[in-house]
Amino acid sequence: MDSRAAPGGMARRTFLAASLSGIAGVVLASCTAPQPVPTPPPTDTTTPTPSPTPTASVDGVPQPTAMSRSRWGADPFARGSFTFDAAGAAPELREALAEPVADRVFFAGEACDPDAPGTLQGARNSGLRAATSIADVAEQGERVAVIGAGLAGLTAARELADGGFEVVVLEARDRIGGRIDTVEASGFDQPIELGAMFVRGGTLTMQLADASVALYPVAPPTVARTPDGLAVTIPSTGPEAIAAAQAWASAQPGVRTRDLSLATAIVESGTAASLSKTPDTTGVSPADWLAHTIASGVATVTGTTANRVSALAPLSGRSAVDLIELGAAPQGDLARGIDAALEPYAAELDIAVTSVVTRIVYDERRVSLRLDSGESLNVDRVVVTVPLGVLKTDTLRFSPSLPLLHQRAIDRLGVGVVDTVWLRFDSAFWRTDVPGPGSSVDVLTVVGETPTVAAWVDVGRPDDEPVLVGLIAATQAQRLEALDDQQFEAAVLADLAPFAPAATAGG
Ligand SMILES: Cc1cc2nc3c(=O)[nH]c(=O)nc-3n(C[C@H](O)[C@H](O)[C@H](O)COP(=O)(O)OP(=O)(O)OC[C@H]3O[C@@H](n4cnc5c(N)ncnc54)[C@H](O)[C@@H]3O)c2cc1C
Repeated sequence: MDSRAAPGGMARRTFLAASLSGIAGVVLASCTAPQPVPTPPPTDTTTPTPSPTPTASVDGVPQPTAMSRSRWGADPFARGSFTFDAAGAAPELREALAEPVADRVFFAGEACDPDAPGTLQGARNSGLRAATSIADVAEQGERVAVIGAGLAGLTAARELADGGFEVVVLEARDRIGGRIDTVEASGFDQPIELGAMFVRGGTLTMQLADASVALYPVAPPTVARTPDGLAVTIPSTGPEAIAAAQAWASAQPGVRTRDLSLATAIVESGTAASLSKTPDTTGVSPADWLAHTIASGVATVTGTTANRVSALAPLSGRSAVDLIELGAAPQGDLARGIDAALEPYAAELDIAVTSVVTRIVYDERRVSLRLDSGESLNVDRVVVTVPLGVLKTDTLRFSPSLPLLHQRAIDRLGVGVVDTVWLRFDSAFWRTDVPGPGSSVDVLTVVGETPTVAAWVDVGRPDDEPVLVGLIAATQAQRLEALDDQQFEAAVLADLAPFAPAATAGG
């Protein structure tokens, strides 16, 4: 139990990471006197959904025995899933966002990383960078507040604490991890991931392995199904068309290039016109394959539509689907139980959970933070890691206002939405063979119609568990977030019809 007074005299609830028993089991260890008015835990819109009430099966798709879903777009502490390069937003805006303000306010978070935006790796990179920037200008022993206990915040806090700074982390939720959301959901044998779940090489993958996080290779799918259940080999048509449109866009004059959306580039480059709409013997046309790549690849990687994403946006690194769809080697891994990797970061850090920061007042000498509980905290410097989607709202105010370049970055960089739905069934009806030892995770997609669920990931395959995860992206994600569980379940199950036993019998 830690009952020391917090820097600046703020009473605080201290979360000792050493007592971690899984992220779902976050423990608030102690309060100092006087006890602050307890802040009600924020509504976590990513909490698991109890097993749905059984309803009739949809188009021969068996009823799931358990379901859990995310709602990242509506989540007040995320306001989206990850950032994307929007048409009209120069990639340099990420660096502008990461610029320190008055050497007092520092920014980190996946949105600030120009090399791996929108990913876990980008979040980690940005946390390291912010910690280095502070170490360059601060005296050892200074008090630093880190706002947000996601991967960026925990990375920065760990580095700063190890470097001799007095660090306090203020986290709005009642748990750490942010968009890493590992949940013990009823009806599932293993913890499930409602947020990030794919990694692809690099230091982060090594850290996950060191933390004994289970890593399963993802098999690039070679086959998609038509709405009738026919299995068709995926050609390179879609990825090649996107690559051609991107190559055309990058050859346009500078300003024009930046403003082009992927959809405009596909049309104006002549790529769309060059693809026939006439179905072949399988009933699928080249134009259908481009639509398939956009729906299952581009949308899951960016969380947005081809109309909004820049023609030059990097389209790899985040989802299982891009590994195949956009031909971006090397192959990645599905990670389960990612929260375990946060423990070394969080160990013995002072983390005040359920602490929503609402105002940051700064000058050249110090920073004052205001919390929604009415408490305030004075520190020497602050690292702000709240997601870009939150910065776009007025729930966290800066005084004085941020410089114009920061404001422009916040306005123009895009925030996409991808949601996950985990379904467990009595049996893995979608598998056409029996998984052997060391089986890879499979990705299932449909071609020939615009699906509600962009891709299904057979996460249970390596352990022979009947569990599928659906990735719901962009406008479909926004639409489905508004549905109640029963409507939602019916909508997503309908998309499994091409994989149902009746459909696949002839396929
Ligand atoms: C569904 C989904 C799938 C994804 N898949 C992948 C993937 O496969 N691979 C991959 O690499 N990445 C993936 N990502 C992206 C990855 O999860 C993020 O890039 C990364 O977790 C972001 O870390 P962060 O620390 O920048 O932000 P966050 O994890 O969001 O941390 C920010 C923290 O700030 C807190 N906060 C917000 N407002 C306040 C406030 N006012 N006061 C105090 N605290 C506040 C939040 O609660 C949060 O804990 C996925 C994300 C989602 C949602």
